[in-house]
Amino acid sequence: MTRRLFAASSALLLTLAVGCGKPVEPCPEAEGAFACVEGATLALSSEPWCESKLATAQGLVAEAVKAMELAGQVWDVDPSDYVTGWVISYCGGWFVCGSGGSASWTYGCAELGEDLIKAGPNLDGCASGVLVHEIGHLVVHGDRNHRDPRFAVATALADTVCE
Ligand SMILES: [Zn+2]
Repeated sequence: MTRRLFAASSALLLTLAVGCGKPVEPCPEAEGAFACVEGATLALSSEPWCESKLATAQGLVAEAVKAMELAGQVWDVDPSDYVTGWVISYCGGWFVCGSGGSASWTYGCAELGEDLIKAGPNLDGCASGVLVHEIGHLVVHGDRNHRDPRFAVATALADTVCE
């Protein structure tokens, strides 16, 4: 099943990539991987509660492409400069981010030391919307308290990723 999703997603990605003139680069293998966008591997989390409530793989690829475009505009960067080699792990529910005293349940986080972004549905069910925000943590390298005003812009734009 994963292979079939991967094949379908690759075909879609190729179409999108040709459309914007960017080459399709192979991504590193990752558990649950189904596509590659801007150098980041999209994967489905293997946690049992992650399976439900997600868009199809093709839907997630389209969302991720849109989220990367928006992130590029909000943060004024080429997102591939920041997400290449990273894994974006999707979950159909919320999950624990961080460790020790900073661990918390949420629907999105960037684990900077692991080159890993975790993404799940926000209250409106949009799983890729949080990427616009999380990519900002890669660009500014941290800022847990969101002092950079662009985080507010990124969060406000989240739902447009899934429209
Ligand atoms: Zn944040």
